[in-house]
Amino acid sequence: MPVLVMKFGGTSVATLDRIKRAAKRVGVEVAKGYDVIVIVSAMSGETNKLVGFVNETSPLFDAREYDAVVSSGENVTAGLMALTLQEMDVPARSWQGWQVPVKTTSAHSSARIEEIPAENITRKFAEGMKVAVVAGFQGISPEGRITTLGRGGSDTTAVAFAAAFNAERCDIYTDVDGVYTTDPRICDKARKLDRIAFEEMLELASLGAKVLQTRSVELAMRYKVKLRVLSSFEEQSDDAGTLVCDEEDIMESNVVAGVAYSRDEAKMTLVSVADRPGIAAAIFTPLSEAGVNVDMIVQNISEEGRTDMTFSCPTDQVKRAEKAMRDAKDNGAINFTEIVADTDVAKVSVVGIGMRSHTGVAAKMFQVLSKEGVNIKVITTSEIKISVLIDRKYMELAVQALHDAFELEKAG
Ligand code: ADP
Ligand code: ASP
Ligand code: MG
Repeated sequence: MPVLVMKFGGTSVATLDRIKRAAKRVGVEVAKGYDVIVIVSAMSGETNKLVGFVNETSPLFDAREYDAVVSSGENVTAGLMALTLQEMDVPARSWQGWQVPVKTTSAHSSARIEEIPAENITRKFAEGMKVAVVAGFQGISPEGRITTLGRGGSDTTAVAFAAAFNAERCDIYTDVDGVYTTDPRICDKARKLDRIAFEEMLELASLGAKVLQTRSVELAMRYKVKLRVLSSFEEQSDDAGTLVCDEEDIMESNVVAGVAYSRDEAKMTLVSVADRPGIAAAIFTPLSEAGVNVDMIVQNISEEGRTDMTFSCPTDQVKRAEKAMRDAKDNGAINFTEIVADTDVAKVSVVGIGMRSHTGVAAKMFQVLSKEGVNIKVITTSEIKISVLIDRKYMELAVQALHDAFELEKAG
């Protein structure tokens, strides 16, 4: 039997009624003759609640216990989805990550999937089971402990299963009907894309577009998984939603494909560090050892041998970063007069593979922001994206102004 992977995100399994609605959709695919692997997220809001419990209990938590707690939301929805399917007379069974097993690295809270042996589930399919419901987001480390794949990780579970089972397609059911030129929740001119290239989706995801977890796009690209994003709330035809595909399979495209944003950024500045060879290594090595994901970096011009070093990192890593820097100062590795954390910033990015061959995108972006009176604090660029860090209060304005200026509401 051909295998289909169907993933339902948090809002799609938020209530028993929605689980029923999702189960009906699974039933339709079973009736077409597929063996279906359903990947479920926790009910919406559940994982945030669990993360809150952990932070309140232990601000610099042990990541192994964080995983033990935050993985639990998916156990509930996996069991409920299997029960709902059974009530519809569809033979179904639930699996937690460790039972499959979804083997991951031991990088707790952001583990990577290394292997998914297909035998257990394949055997069950051969015995007549029609649907394997798997708790997304979870895995098991080589040490035998529960791991999680980072926020939004159920998308990655879904794509990894599609690759491991050679699925015909991986359908990601969510609360929007596809991938848009920007988040439709903050820009009403956002346009749904019928197709988007892997590279562009990868950048949009890594720059904050929550609709797919970055790692899921990487895996889909590597293993050539046919990946589709669609709504679990609307009736669907076979070509509904957005297909994430190779660049060659897209006929028309704009220079800029989309605008992404992330509220989850903090800017940290070490004031007056000695400007000497090795200073960057002395700062960024302890940050990396403390598990801080540094994104943008700027070193100011130095005056009298001293300089300010600014970097950005996710807001929930600010405490870790501060501690790592204070410890490095205490043990004499670095010296600074002050460490300043600004958590009222946001990152806004424009993305498009057309930038490889078109110049002037950066200039235009800066002009648009300048016209709106938005001050740029940090800039980074790559071949197909430009990102700026700005005051968070201007984030929506910046996204909308850029969407207008690059005419993203019109198909290219
Ligand atoms: P799920 O719980 O189904 O995994 P997520 O909340 O993780 O859903 O992702 C879907 C959300 O992603 C949408 O509700 C939307 O607000 C947001 N989003 C951000 N950027 C985009 C984009 N470019 N296209 C579509 N959705 C986007
Ligand atoms: N429940 C997890 C989260 O909220 C995983 C997911 O939904 O993809 O991050
Ligand atoms: Mg998600």
